[in-house]
Amino acid sequence: MIAAKGYAAQNAKAPLAPFQFERRDLKPHDVQFDIHFCGVCHSDIHQVRDEWGGSIYPMVPGHEIVGRVTAVGDHVTKFKVGDLAGVGCIVDSCRHCESCEQGLEQYCLNGNSQTYNGREQDKKTPTYGGYSNLIITHEDFVFHIPESLDLAAVAPLLCAGITTYSPLKYWKVGPGHKVAVLGLGGLGHMAVKFAVAFGAEVTMLSTSASKEEDAKRLGAHKFVLTKDADQVKAVKGYFDFIIDTVSAPHDYNMYLGLLKVNGVHICVGAPPTPAEIGVFNLLGSRKSLVGSNTGGMPETQEMLNYCGEHNIVSDIELIPMSEIDTAYERMLKGDVRYRFVIDMSTL
Ligand code: NAP
Ligand code: ZN
Ligand code: ZN
Repeated sequence: MIAAKGYAAQNAKAPLAPFQFERRDLKPHDVQFDIHFCGVCHSDIHQVRDEWGGSIYPMVPGHEIVGRVTAVGDHVTKFKVGDLAGVGCIVDSCRHCESCEQGLEQYCLNGNSQTYNGREQDKKTPTYGGYSNLIITHEDFVFHIPESLDLAAVAPLLCAGITTYSPLKYWKVGPGHKVAVLGLGGLGHMAVKFAVAFGAEVTMLSTSASKEEDAKRLGAHKFVLTKDADQVKAVKGYFDFIIDTVSAPHDYNMYLGLLKVNGVHICVGAPPTPAEIGVFNLLGSRKSLVGSNTGGMPETQEMLNYCGEHNIVSDIELIPMSEIDTAYERMLKGDVRYRFVIDMSTL
């Protein structure tokens, strides 16, 4: 086994603290890399605090992981020592179900292995994420990172990036579409960047008046303060799509009213509690309320290549490992601009 160190939660109430653990020895198809940066996703908070239920402790969070390869197994063909490498939300899957065969490992019918707070495919060994100094992962679940991009700002593409890129692609969002992005945080700011890059008209729906200038700088064409009833009324029946990135409970019915006939409300935000939906808000105008989860391996690589070609990265605030709890508190207040990334050299 290989000694590793990181930060872990020991239970749902304790702050994250230094933690020593072991990674597996390199198998023939494994890639080992030193983690240089790891993004901080709101899913880390949900899971550390066991808001979704079933959390496994000790938990080393982190699924926006980038660094440089330090060793490869004998049969590895896709990476060599010194290459940039990334790992996102999944480190393995069954590889033979209908979803896996289509490159939709995020929807593996036999249960994929989440990067942390999960189990390896033996369904026993716990997985540990990117708030750590190194990781060892099968090469099929490791991504190539364009050398041209700022590495720290690439990290959030591994979750916030792919989670917004994937539904925009699936629903073929592009020129002629009016898209609303709900919630300007890690996912929200990437949704704005991609929807603008794909040619849509983009409106930011936010609870924070202070984010209007940033929303425009990120490329949003319009800004609606959702606390202002008059501003909300002005966009009733206006949008083809809403990309909903909100992490806390909110009223879906209100936002469904902002869609056109045939409009689609895409949930990527994952509030822990169930919501009540008035079905008349859907059937009256043939609207859809749908969800989307991260992205598969081929699409994640496609997204990273797209970002390399179009010079798209995340807007980040780099933090030392020791400031993780403060970062969580700030995210819970909506005070994030627009992704915290941990500098792993501070571990
Ligand atoms: P984040 O950076 O904390 O941003 C969330 C934003 O939501 C906030 O900045 C705020 O934006 C808005 N917001 C917060 N509370 C709100 C409320 N009560 N009503 C309306 N808006 C509110 O979080 P994130 O990392 O982007 O993650 C967002 C959600 O997506 C989390 O639930 C996370 O678990 C989930 N997620 C899902 C997937 C997936 O695969 N589906 C992947 C990653 C993350 P404003 O200040 O602009 O209002
Ligand atoms: Zn995430
Ligand atoms: Zn599968």
